[in-house]
Amino acid sequence: MANFYLDTPELKHHLNHPLMKRIVELKERNYTDKDTFEYAPIDFEDAMDSYDKVLEIVGEICGDIIAPNSEEVDHEGPQVINNRVKYAGGTAANLEATTKAGLMGMAMPRRYGGLNFPIVPYIMAADIVSRSDAGFENLWGLQDCAETIYEFANEDQKQRYITRVCQGDTMSMDLTEPDAGSDLQAVMLKATYSEKDQCWYLNGVKRFITNGDADIHLVLARSEEGTHDGRGLSMFIYDKRNGGVNVRRIENKMGIKGSPTCELVYKNAKAELCGDRKLGLIKYVMALMNGARLGIAAQSVGISQAAYNEALAYAKDRKQFGKAIIDFPAVAEILSVMKAKLDATRALLYETARFVDVYKALDDVAKERKLTPEERTEQKVFSKLADSFTPLAKGIGSEFANQNAYDCIQIHGGSGFMKDYACERIYRDARITSIYEGTTQLQVVAAIRYVTNGAYLARIKEYEAMPVAPEFEGLQNRLKEMAAKYAACVTQITEAKDQELLDFCARRLVEMAAYTIMGHLMVQDASKSDLFSESAQVYVRYAEAEVEKHINFIRKFDKDDLAYYRK
Ligand SMILES: Cc1cc2nc3c(=O)[nH]c(=O)nc-3n(C[C@H](O)[C@H](O)[C@H](O)COP(=O)(O)OP(=O)(O)OC[C@H]3O[C@@H](n4cnc5c(N)ncnc54)[C@H](O)[C@@H]3O)c2cc1C
Repeated sequence: MANFYLDTPELKHHLNHPLMKRIVELKERNYTDKDTFEYAPIDFEDAMDSYDKVLEIVGEICGDIIAPNSEEVDHEGPQVINNRVKYAGGTAANLEATTKAGLMGMAMPRRYGGLNFPIVPYIMAADIVSRSDAGFENLWGLQDCAETIYEFANEDQKQRYITRVCQGDTMSMDLTEPDAGSDLQAVMLKATYSEKDQCWYLNGVKRFITNGDADIHLVLARSEEGTHDGRGLSMFIYDKRNGGVNVRRIENKMGIKGSPTCELVYKNAKAELCGDRKLGLIKYVMALMNGARLGIAAQSVGISQAAYNEALAYAKDRKQFGKAIIDFPAVAEILSVMKAKLDATRALLYETARFVDVYKALDDVAKERKLTPEERTEQKVFSKLADSFTPLAKGIGSEFANQNAYDCIQIHGGSGFMKDYACERIYRDARITSIYEGTTQLQVVAAIRYVTNGAYLARIKEYEAMPVAPEFEGLQNRLKEMAAKYAACVTQITEAKDQELLDFCARRLVEMAAYTIMGHLMVQDASKSDLFSESAQVYVRYAEAEVEKHINFIRKFDKDDLAYYRK
């Protein structure tokens, strides 16, 4: 009986962060739901206890059902039969188990059948599910799309669709087309309004759509004839019960094989407008993607955890030269860095999730009453922090997941190259995390403005002012030195006033900011719990070396050097 929540005490540490008090207070609004719903919490402690209990159930289902199914799902995969997707047997069993346990629509309000969970415990469930099977996380995690319906659809649509998601209907997010990948402004799937039928019809093709045969789809389509940019796009809800969308094929992929990636053909598919016309990309997809990016950040952390666990277990078990390989410093070092990267990305994930929680809860409160001036300021601050941290959590988290999966194979030696060990699947599954929901390069495009407008540095200064345990003051001082060097690099590049130079150095600048922020988070965590003492030491040293490497690259870089990199 494995429990993937209880066996990882780091999770409870993040769940019990002091900011949860404010998050729960905002989310539960004086605990009024208790008068209507038997299972609604009566106070803060009760709410925290309910998150803990539900996560225990998630941990149990992941340990006992989803993880044991993962190898077979990877081999069997889904199929297309008569234009419909048939999941692998294990996937269907996983969906049944999570639905039965009430884990669909977790973050949705109780009046629609959800659990009204804040983002933090919901994302924690995603972290745990991803560890058990990253491919299954995609299907389960697409419940995220209900959040977009909740935020932007009308009440009738919310009643009809969110309730279904809470009962187990699955969702998909249909954005990508053959000529519109990173550049979603190029979406051409056509939406036409029929005056006669008083409804919209969709025609065209979408590709690479995860769970493309879902019950309910969110679709980005061109509603304004003759337009060619993002301003002509609207968001639609397509209900599979109405028909009109066929799955032409599913992709034969490297990893996350249980998750069907579909090419879809829309033929006069009846759809409903979600929100206002023309705001599809500009407003709704941006919100949808931010939520989904946090989901991929969680998926990355879950994969990192799986990779670390597999590597650690193998290193303890495998003997060479008369001793366990974990006793060789070269192997122990790899494991220590893996754990440090895992802890640091998890710290960044939950810091970001808390920021999202506060501003989203305030957004929601604002639908019921006018916010006080203090609340409006709070909303603004947290919304900015969430926007600036999300691309870091997704970008760095996914890159670290890939590095940890690589190192996991390395620790397994030749055995790691064989299909006999889970690490081979973990390695293949990890690869997609830095591609979908915006590649790492696109996360850098989103993050660089917070480098140049000083937002990251301002937040770093706030971390520098936070107290730490005496034994970590040395590490905090080293992080202060790192920040000073980062600030000097930013000044060097921005003063050159050359966009190409800035674009070229953007990844390094963003990474320097992220490494420093994660260092502070590690020191904060280590000050509160012994669980993180070693990781804090290892991580700050790692980050220091990485930052130094980037500084050397940038300091010696001249604008004229760009010529060598033009192809
Ligand atoms: C398994 C899988 C599942 C997916 N699921 C979904 C889904 O459910 N729904 C959905 O809508 N889509 C989905 N996608 C699509 C996915 O989001 C896109 O593949 C991704 O956004 C990249 O687009 P692209 O593949 O067209 O690559 P391109 O946009 O062609 O990018 C190719 C390369 O160019 C780089 N590049 C492009 N533009 C820039 C820029 N401005 N600056 C710097 N570098 C740039 C990229 O970083 C990348 O390295 C999925 C894809 C896969 C593989």
